[in-house]
Amino acid sequence: MTATATTDPSPRADLGITDALVVDDTGAVRSVDIYVRDGSVVSISDAGRGRVSARKVVHAAGGLTLPGFVNSHSHSYGPLCRHEGKNLPLEPWMMYGWATTVGRTREEVRLTAQLQAVEALLTGTTSMLDHLAGAIEDQEAALDAYEEIGIRALVAPMIADIRLPETVGAAPSLWPASSRAEDPALDQRSARDLIDATVALYDGWTSPSGRTGVMFGPSAPQRCSDEMMREIADISRSRGIRVHTHLLETRVQAGITPPKGFGSWLELLDDQGLLSARLSAAHGVWVSPGGIELAAGRAATFVHNPQSNLQLGSGVADLTEWRRQGLSVALGTDGVNCGGSMDMVSSMRFATVLHRPSRHDPSTWETPLSALRLATAGAAALGFGRGRLEVGEPADFSIFPTDTPAYASGEDPLATLVLSAWDHSARTVVVAGRVVVDDGRLTTIDETALLASAREARAKLLARNSHLAELARAQEPFLTELTRAAKANRPIMPFTGV
Ligand SMILES: [Zn+2]
Repeated sequence: MTATATTDPSPRADLGITDALVVDDTGAVRSVDIYVRDGSVVSISDAGRGRVSARKVVHAAGGLTLPGFVNSHSHSYGPLCRHEGKNLPLEPWMMYGWATTVGRTREEVRLTAQLQAVEALLTGTTSMLDHLAGAIEDQEAALDAYEEIGIRALVAPMIADIRLPETVGAAPSLWPASSRAEDPALDQRSARDLIDATVALYDGWTSPSGRTGVMFGPSAPQRCSDEMMREIADISRSRGIRVHTHLLETRVQAGITPPKGFGSWLELLDDQGLLSARLSAAHGVWVSPGGIELAAGRAATFVHNPQSNLQLGSGVADLTEWRRQGLSVALGTDGVNCGGSMDMVSSMRFATVLHRPSRHDPSTWETPLSALRLATAGAAALGFGRGRLEVGEPADFSIFPTDTPAYASGEDPLATLVLSAWDHSARTVVVAGRVVVDDGRLTTIDETALLASAREARAKLLARNSHLAELARAQEPFLTELTRAAKANRPIMPFTGV
């Protein structure tokens, strides 16, 4: 069992972890003691070599101790609308998602951020990117929540200056009258307004802990005007602000012609100045091999969200080709309203096994170890270290208990977690050297009270936005047909000999 105790009154370290099972670059495991000071790992040594000397000691008892997962694509509005628009593809589904996002109160922004962070921490995620829709002026509530709960997070206000119905590749005139989105709630603010509000949030937010921050979050290339994207690229370049966007997620999106005669959306992004190491792009399911090459050459990061891509029927990203071309890749869940949950172990499992049937050569397959590296690779793109449990790195790690039935035979514990364990709960989670999950419970928030408030908040939100849900229902047949008719620009899953 993990337990905490106070020991040496004149501590050398703030935190000591004893008998932690860690995984090296070859996948081999060994038992170590870990020491943390001022938020960083200062020592990793063979277990039991030295006397435990720290202000706080956690006995890992052979628990699998991994660098904290970095969820590189999520939306914290998800927890109050987990199954709105269920069993639909993205285009009709997102109208339901929109209907439960518009007009949320500051309190609701705070509550959903808390719910998302709790779910992330309890399953071993220590950092996340929150691509957050809704009024930018209220998003400090999410940042406040992340500060209080102890997770690392960047908030990327999701902005677009093209009205939603005009971003699905069908002219507004083609929409049946009953499904036209005339509701003023769907009107977009101007690009100037949205960029200014994002910059104001970026400039106005001072993280008390240094764990939270703000970045640009243009919703997707087809949802933002050329002028808007160029302005974001200019500010990003001059001020070093990171950018996150969705990218070619569905067949419908792949069929939308990029403007101004560009051959592909990737060429347009490059011309706009967005394709750089500051950019991370979620999905990329329908990016061509040429687009992958362009993104890899510019050191941009693609974020793989396999469960979301399956749940919405969007397609299967060609992760093996991304790897072959040397693209920087991170892992995410997407919102819990389309990606299952904030559990990154589930994303790791999908990333490991999903692509195997398309490759004859098992040496190209993802493994539990490569999936672990994917699950922490986003740290670099977010400025949260290297995503490794090493001396000198931020003390962000999680301990998964191995005294449960799945681990009983003592075989490869990482493979057990990624491929065969059914409980993905971390017993201890440390962020920036602080124990935020202790014996499976949050130390920073009253979890029971928080969960108790979710039902009532959801009911209120749905009642307030019921007219938008009605609109989504009216749009569903048209958007479903649009999706059904969309052609794939490549096989859903290529079969190759490599
Ligand atoms: Zn998303």
